[in-house]
Amino acid sequence: MGVRSAASGARASTPSPASAATSAAARVARTLEWQIATVTAITTETARAKTFTLELPAWRAHRAGQHYDVRLTAEDGYQAQRSYSIASEPERAGEVDLTVELISDGEVSAYMHEVLVPGDRIEVRGPIGGYFVWEASDPGALGLVAGGSGVVPLMAMLRHRAAAGGRQPAVLLYSARIADDVIYAGELERIAAAQDGVRVVRTLTRGAPEGWTGYTRRIDAEMLREVLGPLGAEVRVFVCGPTLLVESVADALVGIGVPAARIKTERFGPTGS
Ligand SMILES: Cc1cc2nc3c(=O)[nH]c(=O)nc-3n(C[C@H](O)[C@H](O)[C@H](O)COP(=O)(O)OP(=O)(O)OC[C@H]3O[C@@H](n4cnc5c(N)ncnc54)[C@H](O)[C@@H]3O)c2cc1C
Repeated sequence: MGVRSAASGARASTPSPASAATSAAARVARTLEWQIATVTAITTETARAKTFTLELPAWRAHRAGQHYDVRLTAEDGYQAQRSYSIASEPERAGEVDLTVELISDGEVSAYMHEVLVPGDRIEVRGPIGGYFVWEASDPGALGLVAGGSGVVPLMAMLRHRAAAGGRQPAVLLYSARIADDVIYAGELERIAAAQDGVRVVRTLTRGAPEGWTGYTRRIDAEMLREVLGPLGAEVRVFVCGPTLLVESVADALVGIGVPAARIKTERFGPTGS
């Protein structure tokens, strides 16, 4: 799209003074106000995924699993708006990381990948979402199931668990097409090696390198039983990724006996991987 400036025509919202008396309604209203973030860093995660660090004038601590909306405005006033999950932990004040996968011909993801550079300003609002969220104080084991960029909000949960000193057992089951598509690969290896209660299991659906020890097929009921079974009956499961993956995983989880009330899902888009 012919975007003149990501922040064009927008006004930054004014941070309200923190006050114990601030009502929940006022907090929601502020969350829905647009503000102008500054891109302070862009990190290449994979050939198709980049992390954008955004400094926020009206930063508010988010809950792991929430997202921000990004809005672009073109010369002629045309606007495109998309949601991006927060990848960073809430303990990091003043800024958030968004990890965006490049979608071929995608309006907003392509702009972010191909046009944005550090120092640019971009219009965002958030943090948004109160359902697909996890707090380190939540009891019970944590089962995380991701497809592709669906790993982003689940990474926020793992980072939050680490920053808050959470001790509950956790497993991340992460499906990617090929090894080079695995986002946060190095950090996930370090998390798994730390042996502090987090297990990382990967599955590749389009070919694995020699010596690969993970799974090599789409996530199915048998895999879910093997990977999540050891977490026990009290597990809370978060599933995120392309719509088809999320729906098939949610069905399979119910099929292996996980109560629907313990499964939370977030769908990123129309296609499957
Ligand atoms: C709550 C929420 C959180 C999200 N968090 C993230 C995130 O953390 N990282 C991230 O990369 N994306 C995330 N998404 C998806 C994101 O909002 C956009 O849908 C995605 O970036 C495509 O937007 P686009 O403008 O680039 O493509 P569009 O111009 O909207 O679409 C271009 C083409 O790609 C197809 N398409 C659209 N979305 C997808 C998709 N997700 N996968 C494959 N094909 C698609 C369209 O059908 C169309 O054919 C999230 C979505 C939701 C609802």
